[in-house]
Amino acid sequence: MIRVTIYNEFYHERKDNLAHDIYPEGIHTTLKKALEGQDISVDTVTLDDIDELTCERLAKTDVLIWWGHCKHNDVPDEVAVRVQQAVLKGMGAIFLHSAHHSKPFKLLMGTPCNLCWRENGDYELLWVCDPSHPIAQGIDRFVKLDHEEVYSEPFTVPDPDKLVFISSFQGGEVFRAGCCYQRQNGKIFYFQPGHETYPTYHNKDIIRIIKNAVYWAAPIFRADKLEAVEVKKPLGE
Ligand code: ZN
Repeated sequence: MIRVTIYNEFYHERKDNLAHDIYPEGIHTTLKKALEGQDISVDTVTLDDIDELTCERLAKTDVLIWWGHCKHNDVPDEVAVRVQQAVLKGMGAIFLHSAHHSKPFKLLMGTPCNLCWRENGDYELLWVCDPSHPIAQGIDRFVKLDHEEVYSEPFTVPDPDKLVFISSFQGGEVFRAGCCYQRQNGKIFYFQPGHETYPTYHNKDIIRIIKNAVYWAAPIFRADKLEAVEVKKPLGE
């Protein structure tokens, strides 16, 4: 059983009619219902109860999914450090859409993670760059989203270890939309689609990709601690 925790700031869906109509119970609840199954269990946390993201809770999380947008600064620094440390130990992490500017993602990347954006309801074509990658399985050459927020280059992240998706938009912009990273023992996937006023997380291909990413990011090895351990005797004695 892969234990997933979804963090969603849960702000737009309670303040904005459009977002509320698409995600009446919040993006986290839509994702939970879509991902839960025989081998995936899902818990959720919102900004209201973010203090529940303790070290113990993270140690029992195999993959953390993060959605945030305008409340990044309300996430306590301690929580961001806890997430970073949990990833270094081996927890998987999936950062969705505007989580590119979340504190834990920026800590893990070490760069500003800026991008260009435009919101005109353009269509998006999400192209598979690597059909052999586990996260692209079951996906055709591309996924068309009728409306998405435009994110475009330059995206100031480190070069990904593997680029699985690249997107083009109606206006001609392109964006590295699906980026894989490894930081010490933990796997990280950044995935661009998911603006709160479009029904992106109701799209079966998008859910398939996120589910594939959960399986890919699930830990293979987890370290108990990150500090160096003193060894008293040389090997062989
Ligand atoms: Zn957005």
